[in-house]
Amino acid sequence: METKVVKFGGSSLADAGQLRKAADIVRAEPERRFVVASAPGKRFSGDMKVTDMLYSCYDTAARGESFDDAFAAIEERFNGIIRELELDMSLESEFAGIKNAFAHRAGRDYAASRGEYLNSIILAKLLGFEFIDPAGFIRFDEQGAFDLEATRERLVPRLEKCENAVIPGFYGSMPNDTIKTFSRGGSDITGSIVANAVNAVIYENWTDVSGFMIADPRVVDHPRNITTITYRELRELAYMGAGVLHEDAIFPVRKAGIPINIRNTNRPEDKGTLIVSDTAETSRYTITGIAGKKGFSVIQIEKDMMNSEVGFGKNVLRALEKNNMCFEHMPSGIDTMSIIVNSDALVGKEKAVLDEINFRCHPDKMEIENNLALIAVVGRSMRKARGTAGRLFSALAHARVNVKMIDQGSSELNIIIGVEEEDFETAIRAIYDMFVLTEC
Ligand code: ADP
Ligand code: ASP
Ligand code: MG
Repeated sequence: METKVVKFGGSSLADAGQLRKAADIVRAEPERRFVVASAPGKRFSGDMKVTDMLYSCYDTAARGESFDDAFAAIEERFNGIIRELELDMSLESEFAGIKNAFAHRAGRDYAASRGEYLNSIILAKLLGFEFIDPAGFIRFDEQGAFDLEATRERLVPRLEKCENAVIPGFYGSMPNDTIKTFSRGGSDITGSIVANAVNAVIYENWTDVSGFMIADPRVVDHPRNITTITYRELRELAYMGAGVLHEDAIFPVRKAGIPINIRNTNRPEDKGTLIVSDTAETSRYTITGIAGKKGFSVIQIEKDMMNSEVGFGKNVLRALEKNNMCFEHMPSGIDTMSIIVNSDALVGKEKAVLDEINFRCHPDKMEIENNLALIAVVGRSMRKARGTAGRLFSALAHARVNVKMIDQGSSELNIIIGVEEEDFETAIRAIYDMFVLTEC
C-alpha cells in the first residue's frame, strides 16, 4: 500500500471539533498512515496559541515567580478537548511531570515542545494509532542544525515497524538528548522529515486555507489560488513571508521527490495547492505569487571609486560577520553600496557595525535607514515574458509607491523590491491588480 503523510497545523487542531475533522480526514483514506500534529492554535481571533502560552508560562517559572495559574490554563486547554471528545484518558501524570520540569528550568525549547507532545497523545488515542515521541528519532547536530542523516538512521527503522502513528511536530533532540525545537511553524518541517523517512507518495499539509494564494489573504481581498507551484518558487515566497508553509519544509521532501499538497481541514473537498519539483505547466499568470515582509534596515555606504577597490565588498561583509549578522540583499552602484539587513538583528549593534565598516573600508559617508519593507514577485513564467519589470514599476508608479531598492535574482525567478513600510499593502495590491486582475 502507498503511504501518505499528513500534517495538521494549529488551527486544524485548536479544539475538539477540529480534532474530529482531522480524524475524519485521516480515516477517509487508509494510506494516511502517519500523522504529524501541531499544538492547539487559536480557536478565535484574540485567542492564544498553546505554544505561546507555554513560552509565557515557562518565562514566568524561569523568573522564579508563581506559574500555577498560567499552567492551569494550559492544562484546561487539553482537558477541555479530552472532555468534549469523551476520551477515556487522563494527562494528569504528564502535567505533573511537565510542571516539575518547568520548576527545574528544563529549557524554553522543552517547554514549547510540550504543546505538540500532549496534543499528539490525544490525537493518537482518538485515532487508535501508536504515539511516537520524535525526541529519540529527529536529531540535531552539536551546532543545533537539523541532521537528516542521523535522523534517517533512527527514524526509518522505527517507522518500518509501525502500521499507523501520530508524531508530534516541531521538535527533536540534541546529541546530549535535550529537547530542541525548530523555529516557529516548524511542525511543517517534521511532516516533511517523516514523509522522507517513509518514502511517502505525498505529504499532505492540512491548514486553514484551501492552498497557497497568489498573495496574503490578509492584504489582498480573496486572492486567487495557486494550483501548482514549484519547490523553488514556494521557498522564495515562504522565505519572504507567505507563512502557509515553513520555508525549510521543502528540503527533506525535495530530496526524495515527494510532492506536497496544501489542503484545508475545513474544506477537505478542495484540491488545494500541489508543490512539485518541476512543472511543464506554465502558470496561468506571468507571476506565480507575491509575498513580503516589513522590518528591514539599509546600511548605505558611499565611497568614490569603491568599484575599483579590490576586496571592498569582502571587507564590508567581514564587518557584518564580526557582528554575527547575515544580510538579505546587497545592491550596488559605482560608488555606492546598500546592505539590507533584518532590523531586529541590527538593534543594539548599529554603532558597532558602522565602526567596524569604518575601520575596514574608510567610506566617505554612511547611514542607516529603517522601516523598509521587502516584496518578492515570484514566477517561473517571468523568464519568458517580456516587459515584466516595466509593468511592475508602472503599477507601483501609478499607485504612487516610491521604490527604494530593486534586486533581480540571476535565475529570473524573482524580482525583489524595497518600499517604505507604510506603502507595503498598497504596493502588494497594485502588483496583484496589474498581474492578476488585468491578465484574467
Ligand atoms: P497552520 O497553523 O496550519 O500551520 P499557518 O497559520 O502557519 O497555519 O498558515 C496558514 C496561514 O497563512 C493562513 O491562515 C493565511 O492567513 C496565511 N498566509 C500568508 N500568506 C498566504 C498565502 N499567500 N496564501 C495562503 N495563506 C497565506
Ligand atoms: N506550535 C509551533 C508554533 O506555534 C509549531 C507549529 O505550529 O508548526 O510555532
Ligand atoms: Mg504553520
